[in-house]
Order: sequence, then C-alpha cells, then structure tokens
Amino acid sequence: MASSWGYSPAPESTDTVDIRDDYGLFIGGRFVEPSGGEYVKTINPATEEVLAAIPVADDDDVDRAVDAAGAAFKKWARLPGAERAKYIFRIARVIQERSRALAVLETMNGGKPIKESRDLDVPLAAAHFFYHAGWADKLEFAFPGRKAEPLGVAAQIIPWNFPLLMLAWKIAPALATGNTVVLKPAETTPLTALAFAAICQEVGLPPGVVNIITGAGATGAALVRHPDVHKIAFTGSTEVGKDIQRAVAGTSKKVTLELGGKAANIVFEDAPLDQAVEGIVNGIFFNQGHVCCAGSRLLVQESIAERLLDKLKRRLATLKMGDPLDKNTDLGAINSREQLSKIKTLVGVGVDEGAELYQAECDLPDRGFWFPPTIFTGVSQSHRIAREEIFGPVLSVLTFRTVEEAVQKANNTTFGLSAGVWTEKGSRILWMADHLKAGVVWANTFNRFDPASPFGGYKESGYGREGGRHGLEGYVNLT
Ligand code: NAP
Ligand code: MG
Repeated sequence: MASSWGYSPAPESTDTVDIRDDYGLFIGGRFVEPSGGEYVKTINPATEEVLAAIPVADDDDVDRAVDAAGAAFKKWARLPGAERAKYIFRIARVIQERSRALAVLETMNGGKPIKESRDLDVPLAAAHFFYHAGWADKLEFAFPGRKAEPLGVAAQIIPWNFPLLMLAWKIAPALATGNTVVLKPAETTPLTALAFAAICQEVGLPPGVVNIITGAGATGAALVRHPDVHKIAFTGSTEVGKDIQRAVAGTSKKVTLELGGKAANIVFEDAPLDQAVEGIVNGIFFNQGHVCCAGSRLLVQESIAERLLDKLKRRLATLKMGDPLDKNTDLGAINSREQLSKIKTLVGVGVDEGAELYQAECDLPDRGFWFPPTIFTGVSQSHRIAREEIFGPVLSVLTFRTVEEAVQKANNTTFGLSAGVWTEKGSRILWMADHLKAGVVWANTFNRFDPASPFGGYKESGYGREGGRHGLEGYVNLT
C-alpha cells in the first residue's frame, strides 16, 4: 500500500473454528441428508480454498422443512411469551460466548474483514436476539388494545453480505412473535447459518421451530411458492424481490422485502470535513461496499468539492486491503467471482460513459476476488454508475449548489433505503430528513444500526420494516 507506515501482519487465529467436510440440512431439529444427494462446495473468497460441501435442498426437502415448521408451530405459538423469551435469550448468550469463532467463520466464508465481523456483525446479531427476547412477553405493549397473533410458518431468504446478522434480523422477531421458521442462507455464505443451527440444538430449542435449508436460487423459489408458508421475509436484489412479488400475487402470504439501494451521502459546505471523509469511507468501503444502504452516491456542495476530494483521495491511500483475517485489514475480499465480474462490468460502463476513474494504488493478492477502492468523479445523473447498485467499493461523486438541488438529486433514484447528511446546522438536518425519500437518514454519521431502530425502504428498496416495534408488525395479525 502507498502508506508510509507499515503494519506487521496480525492474523486472527482460525483454531477456534471447526469446519466439517460436509453438512446436512437442518430440519426438525436434526441434520439430515438432502433427498437428491446433491452438494455444492463453499469456498473462502479470499483464497478460493474449498471450505466444505453444502447440501442442496430440492422440492422434497423444502416440503419436509415446511412440514417440520408447521408441526412445531402449534406448540410454539401457544407457549407463554416468557417461555419463548428464555430460548431466544439463551441463543443470544451462546452467540456471545461463541463470538470469536462465529466472527472467524463469517470472515472465512464471506471475505469481510475480521474487525467488522468481530465488532459489528456478531455483536449486533446477539443484540437482535437479546432485544427480541425482551419483546416476546410484552406484545400487548407493542400493540396496545389489540391482540397480536402469529402468522405460522415464515420463509426467510437472506443474502451473502451479512449472513449471520441478516439471519438474526429475520429469526429473532419471528420467534419472539410465536412463528416458526424455514431459513435459506445465500449459496456462497451458508456456514454461520449452519453453525447457528447447531446453536439451536444446543439451547434445546424445540425441533422444527427453526429449520435451515441450504441451496441456490431454486431452493428459495420453491420455498416462496410452498402453499403452507404464511409469511415471506426476503433480503436481496430488487430483481428477485419482484419475482417473489409475482409469485405471491393472489395468495394471503404476508411479505416484507428489503431490496437494494443507491444512497446519497450529502456533504454541505459547513460540514466538518475530516469527519465527513471518515463517514464517506465508512459509507462506501465498509464491507467492500456490499451493503444495501451503502452511501454509493456522494453529493458534495460545489464550493468544497475540490478540498473534500483531495482529503478523500489522501485517506484512500491509507486503507489497508488484503487478508480479511488480519486485524488491521480495512477492505477484504469481494464475496464471489460473480459479484466481482458485476463490479468490473459496471466500472467499465462508468469509464465508457465518460466519468473519471480514480483508484488508490494497491497490490492485490494473486488468488481470491479483489477490487480496489474506487472513486468516479464527473458523474452525471444519467450515468448508470449513478443509477444502478454496484454493490462494491465504488463511489460515484456528483456536486450540487443549493439545498433544493441536493434533495432533488438525492431523490432522483428508483431506490430509497438510506441517506446521509453532513452539516453543522441542526435545522438543515431536520429539513433534509423531512424531504429525503429514504427509510433511514443518518446525520453526521453513516451505517449505524441498532435492533431498536426500524430499517427498511421506499420505492424499489422494498417495503416493511425490520427492527424495533415496527419490525414486529410483519410477523403478526392484529385483531
Ligand atoms: P439475490 O439473487 O437476490 O439473492 C438473495 C437471496 O435470494 C439468496 O439467498 C438467493 O439464493 C436467493 N434467491 C435467488 N433467486 C431466488 C428466487 N427466484 N426466489 C427466491 N430466492 C432466490 O442476490 P444476489 O444474486 O446474491 O446478488 C445480486 C445483487 O443483489 C447484488 O449485486 C446486489 O446489487 C443486490 N443485493 C442486495 C442485497 C441487500 O442487502 N439489499 C443483498 C445482496 C445482494 P442464492 O444465493 O443461491 O442466489
Ligand atoms: Mg443470486
């Protein structure tokens, strides 16, 4: 790296994780073989090393899992909330106890820096279970004067960018409200979900309350279409979200969709610039930009654009990219070959469309999937790199002159998941938050998450909220 300060390697030990050669599907409280006998290999994207063979659930397996969840539902839904809370609380405690092993496993299977899985993914996953353990016996306070009934079997499909955390976002509220679950992790990152299945066994969760089936898109599609599924919670691409929407049309299935984003991170001329630079870096390079709410469009006020970009480029040169298990690493590996090629294609489009490319100098490892931190300046609103989700470490920079123009440009997108505002002026923050069409607006910070704070989108970013009291609504019928 271009930094004049060298760091000695500081790799986290992998001794704490025990990866098996092959896994089973977790159905009815047991690990079982897939009925079709098909397995796929899951790899470490930083080394391309094969980690384990993962079963592919076919239609029969989906059927078995939904049946197991349906059978478990009758008892689970009738348990007093305080009893359900004890299981959820135990899960939270075991996640905490195993936090080091889970963080290492997440980093090995997904490519994200260990400091992120250690300090964010795993602690937040535990926090979601703690938080929802607290709701389980207080649903009458969540919905005063109304009765909250669970829906039944929840089909939950999650992506590869925050595997354990997205699992927690989905499973914790479902269990707290008395639903049972069939969850499908993403094909490239199944290992922490399977480790979670073992945690369910360990805490004595009644068999069938949580089922975890692995496989690719076809497994997810079969799960969504199963007639005995009552609720679908999906996080992933807008394209698959639309497919799910079509599949449930005319059914009584309840759906929440958390899809893509193209968030504006807006910096006004009075903003504390060094702080804003940290927020921009965190906004787009956190988790290699594989973040649905990433601040992928920087909107900077024209009067400070040059100064801010100078600072940002200097900061880029100090980012450490490489071994995700190294505790000093800022940017890890791209999650898959497929995602890397998508990023490369869109960056190529940006160059062809005439935007100016800037990349910090860095040595990329020979094996694995890597992409350097990238900034595009001279971007116009019609460019594809200003409109489409790249889902990689690529920032598109646009400028504005007035507050009104900032809002107009920020809202000029088919998405509406998140936004960031950087200014010293409190009234402007409130005015912006009022006018930005985004589910979350961060002020003088970015990418902050808390289980008590609802998260979700406008427009093609999906609908429904996850987290907080609002997140419970997606899992209950209110009478
Ligand atoms: P994706 O295909 O939407 O994957 C999300 C989940 O849905 C995965 O578990 C996936 O399984 C499953 N799935 C795929 N096709 C399905 C179908 N027809 N019915 C039901 N489930 C299905 O997303 P991706 O292919 O991993 O990534 C593509 C793009 O989506 C990314 O480049 C990014 O722009 C966006 N994305 C957004 C988020 C987010 O947090 N909002 C997360 C991830 C990706 P497989 O893993 O086996 O395909
Ligand atoms: Mg896919």
